[in-house]
Amino acid sequence: MGHTNPNNSRFRFCPSCGKNSLEPDSIKSFKCGQCGFQFFLNCAAAAMAIILDHQNKILVTVRAKDPGKGTLDLPGGFAEPGESIDQALIREVKEELNLDIFDLEFFCSSANTYPYKSVVYPITDMAFTCKVTDFSQILPMDDVSGFRFIPVHDLTPGMFGMNSAQNVIKKFKKTYS
Ligand SMILES: [Zn+2]
Repeated sequence: MGHTNPNNSRFRFCPSCGKNSLEPDSIKSFKCGQCGFQFFLNCAAAAMAIILDHQNKILVTVRAKDPGKGTLDLPGGFAEPGESIDQALIREVKEELNLDIFDLEFFCSSANTYPYKSVVYPITDMAFTCKVTDFSQILPMDDVSGFRFIPVHDLTPGMFGMNSAQNVIKKFKKTYS
């Protein structure tokens, strides 16, 4: 196996037979040595929004929760079961900032991990440029404690707590300049 399962010591008990015999059998799966039950920890889909205001400043949020509490982030979050990735991003930006986005265009994607309560989740991050007509009703809510508009040339990846946002900002600065 070329990669180690990052959760190899976290999942031990089989949800089917209850025995302490669950073993990682790939980077993303576990198999019970007793009953053969198998469990896959597949990639979660996550979306981020690149939103520019009328002065070409990027809208960034401040994370209200760990991981990365207090650091800057891009608006967005995980897709719920049954959602498309664009539906997820529209919902997340509404929940976090009370803004309506439209004209979503794919910008880039990267693989990532999201550690949460001692489980390492594999993530497929997708970033979209999108438009907002009216910023007057902006209101930080949910897992966002604040927001800022920052000129693109003033942004540095180090201002962001999460690898996902750092990757997008690096690529966007290259493309934009
Ligand atoms: Zn079992």
